[in-house]
Amino acid sequence: MEFVDEKRYRKIKNGVGRAIADFNLIEEGDRIAVAVSGGKDSYTLLHILESLRRRAPVKYELVALTIDSGYPGFRSDVIAAHLREHGFTHHVEATTHYDIIREKRRPGSSYCSICARLKRGVLYTLAQKMGCNKLALGHHLDDFVETLLLNQFFVGTLKAMAPRMLADNGETTVIRPLVYVEERKIIPFARENRFPVVCCCCPVCGKADIQRKRMKELLKALERENPFVKRSLLRSLANVQPRHLLDRELQRVCAVP
Ligand code: SF4
Repeated sequence: MEFVDEKRYRKIKNGVGRAIADFNLIEEGDRIAVAVSGGKDSYTLLHILESLRRRAPVKYELVALTIDSGYPGFRSDVIAAHLREHGFTHHVEATTHYDIIREKRRPGSSYCSICARLKRGVLYTLAQKMGCNKLALGHHLDDFVETLLLNQFFVGTLKAMAPRMLADNGETTVIRPLVYVEERKIIPFARENRFPVVCCCCPVCGKADIQRKRMKELLKALERENPFVKRSLLRSLANVQPRHLLDRELQRVCAVP
């Protein structure tokens, strides 16, 4: 695919390339399932991985996977048509997740946690079924730092996301190649390249979790003073000083006297 703004495309591509190199995200012979929800992030991830694949010295394959959670009105056909037009191997898995959520969700509890958990389970199973050893997810830099802050502010744990980790099934390696790419680069990229973004049609579609929204606002305010605040938070995740934390298990491992 020819991308509209060559400079923006290169910046995103270089960020993804750097993440792949830093965390060894892609290896010779990989068959990578890419979760394509129909949102800007997943389209961007898939197209960038494909453009890298064409020139990469290592051989790897991409398989796009879409989970239809059963929310009425979800246009998986729009996603399928776009991916077909661009020559991707694509599979849509229809599920009855919406029925399960309606039945199991406790009143007042979050839709997203149960929905995402169900989706993740199907993605792991599907990836394996399709012969994929890796599953690529479209989380970007903002997702990493917002999750870091959310966990610190509301959960009391020092934890963000992993760019590469073995999934709970012990088989699939989850990778997040957009870790170095800011959302503000993805938004215009997806728009100008006319990716057909579709709504997930769930009851909370488009309404960002209130606490996550507050983290976004906080980061935006801090950026007015320090434009590199998000980068700095991300860098902190790669520059951990265990001896200056309070985790006793970590202190034991690091043999703090
Ligand atoms: S926004 Fe909707 S589709 Fe996405 S995880 Fe939450 S409930 Fe599921």
